[in-house]
Amino acid sequence: MKEKYEIVIIGGGMVGASIAYHLLKLGARSVAIFEKSYISSGATGRCGGGIRQQWSSPNNVRLAMRSVQLFEKFKEEIGMDIEYKRGGYLLLAYTDEEAQGFENNVRMQKEEGLEVEILSPNTVKKRFPYINIEGVKLATFCASDGHANPHLANFGYIRKSMELGADVFTHTKVENMEVSNGRVVGVQTTRGYVRCDLVVNAAGAWSKEVAKMAGVELPTESFRHQILVTEPVENFMDPLVMSFSHNFYIRQTKHGSILMGQGDKDEKPRINYNVNFKFTKEISRKLTKIFPFLRKIRIVRQWAGHYNMSPDAQPIVGKAPTLENYFYAVGFSGHGFMLAPAVGEALAELILLGSTRHSDISTLNVDRFEKGVVAEKNVV
Ligand SMILES: Cc1cc2nc3c(=O)[nH]c(=O)nc-3n(C[C@H](O)[C@H](O)[C@H](O)COP(=O)(O)OP(=O)(O)OC[C@H]3O[C@@H](n4cnc5c(N)ncnc54)[C@H](O)[C@@H]3O)c2cc1C
Repeated sequence: MKEKYEIVIIGGGMVGASIAYHLLKLGARSVAIFEKSYISSGATGRCGGGIRQQWSSPNNVRLAMRSVQLFEKFKEEIGMDIEYKRGGYLLLAYTDEEAQGFENNVRMQKEEGLEVEILSPNTVKKRFPYINIEGVKLATFCASDGHANPHLANFGYIRKSMELGADVFTHTKVENMEVSNGRVVGVQTTRGYVRCDLVVNAAGAWSKEVAKMAGVELPTESFRHQILVTEPVENFMDPLVMSFSHNFYIRQTKHGSILMGQGDKDEKPRINYNVNFKFTKEISRKLTKIFPFLRKIRIVRQWAGHYNMSPDAQPIVGKAPTLENYFYAVGFSGHGFMLAPAVGEALAELILLGSTRHSDISTLNVDRFEKGVVAEKNVV
């Protein structure tokens, strides 16, 4: 470990790794990533890997569209096959109110330049005959949405960053920060103290605690989310199928397993890696309702991870108002995997060039909550 780094990134998940890569690509001289556990041990390695551009807030649509451009050239640029598949996302509306909301969203998404279709239940049946359309009022489909393997993507950015000169310290926790005259001057890690010119908080579920180390307040809370995977079956579905009102997302992995998860509105914020049978029972019912022919499929395992939630379910990205050299990219809620490429690129530009070139992240600063909260609705 060097005595000093130009930039210290706390957190080696998809977000921290993307920021590191984009900083180095733009010419950062020395970058260190500190990861308290192993790479992809946090939400990234536990997530569904979905990549969706169909959001209710224009911010999320734009960032996701830029991310898709970056995912498309990931293999060529980063040198890692991340099992990226443009299979589309099929969103199912089960109430008239939800259907109306979808229509409004599609209008806005089209204005943002996204190609997205509104499908009647009969068209859903024709195009995706394996789906039980009982109760479906309407659906939307975006063919350029997709999914990828989050572990591979996380490791891809990490390896490329190391090739470009980053020092990556796993099993190294940042325990404290030294602040002097409105600047972070160094971080205390479990491997020792290191000086730095700038710090980025990409600590996912621990974003609030890492912010406090520098006296910064962030309005983030971490909630457990569970997900399961089944034995593999012959590949039959390309899109990720999702319902907000019925609270599920389902996709098939490259080797045939079905991956599906849901949120739990009764959960209180805390770090909790335990899994429970309530989840298994509820999600199995949903799976066999929508795909009755999978009644006999076996569950291989289930696990838990955390959504680091912001008050409006949109990421909090920018510079701390109270410190000159403290940046954060946190509060990604359920969509940090897919937004990480665009956000990493934008934050790197903001840090090194003083302004962004590809995505406008000015509305994602923490100050926005002073004006009230307009929450993203398309979430599970
Ligand atoms: C079940 C589930 C399903 C999901 N599905 C999707 C999906 O389909 N699509 C999508 O886009 N998103 C999805 N998400 C959300 C997505 O996983 C996250 O938003 C994203 O992974 C956040 O990336 P990150 O790098 O910010 O966080 P993480 O991957 O959690 O990385 C943060 C890292 O910081 C480290 N860290 C924390 N504190 C310290 C410290 N003091 N010192 C050193 N290191 C520290 C942690 O160990 C961790 O590895 C899902 C999440 C879950 C839980």
